[in-house]
Amino acid sequence: SIFSEILCQPGPLSAVLRAATGILRQAGIDSARLDAEILVADALSVSRLELYLQHDRWIQAEELRRIAIRLERRSKFEPVAYIVGCKEFYGLDFHVRPGVLIPRPETETIIDAVREWFTPESIFRFADTCTGSGILGVVLATYFPRSQGVLIDISDEALAIARSNVQLHGLKQRLLAVQGDLLHPTARNQLDLVVANPPYLAPREVEETMPDVRLHEPRLALEGGDTGCLFLQRLVEQAQRALKPGGMVCVEMGWQQEQWVQGQFHGPAWERTAVLKDLAGHDRVVVAHRSKC
Ligand code: GLN
Repeated sequence: SIFSEILCQPGPLSAVLRAATGILRQAGIDSARLDAEILVADALSVSRLELYLQHDRWIQAEELRRIAIRLERRSKFEPVAYIVGCKEFYGLDFHVRPGVLIPRPETETIIDAVREWFTPESIFRFADTCTGSGILGVVLATYFPRSQGVLIDISDEALAIARSNVQLHGLKQRLLAVQGDLLHPTARNQLDLVVANPPYLAPREVEETMPDVRLHEPRLALEGGDTGCLFLQRLVEQAQRALKPGGMVCVEMGWQQEQWVQGQFHGPAWERTAVLKDLAGHDRVVVAHRSKC
């Protein structure tokens, strides 16, 4: 097994890194060298830079064991973020574990959209639903020190992780994590802002994702009913009720759902709809405001 292969080769760090890269490459991991560096650094509790500064450090059996455990998990396509237990989003670090979606760079588009509308002095109340690890709410509360928010998720496991991230960033005074279905726990006409990255893939689209996603990330966080649109649709309905008149909703969607989502915001209840592209140039986030009257 991988385990014994690496255990048999105690030696300098540089050689261990080479062996680790080879193991991951053979398992079919595209980013084998990078992943090996991250996992070895994590096993040794040092930074990636430190790996290069200490390339002749002698790796002991106990350290090899820690490395091997991580390589074995990665060989089964478990995402690096789950193995090391954290992921960066919008410049901040977050705890992640199996049970929540791993933060993705395209979701940062939501934060950009909010920062175009509010200023750092703005006083507002928001909900981040389908909060998962809590990334959106935590970043908003960090960038807008006079905001207050509720983080909502249907999954207790996700809420536990979201709460640990609220704690990690010292935001317990302004963020509350509650269990619930979309915006159900919120009262009528109370919110200035709703943000969400709801599950929006159809089952067939989940099957087409890479094994890291398909085999390891929670279906609950990815799949939006038979068409993928179930939660987007229910969210638009509920946002209309939860927002104050003039309040803003900012929601992530699949890049081919733009026309359908825009259609949901038609009618007198909504105004000023806009679509933002992610860094790959795909339509990714829809912004709408509840009508003032
Ligand atoms: N809000 C979290 C994120 O964007 C979780 C999203 C989800 O689980 N669908 O990563």
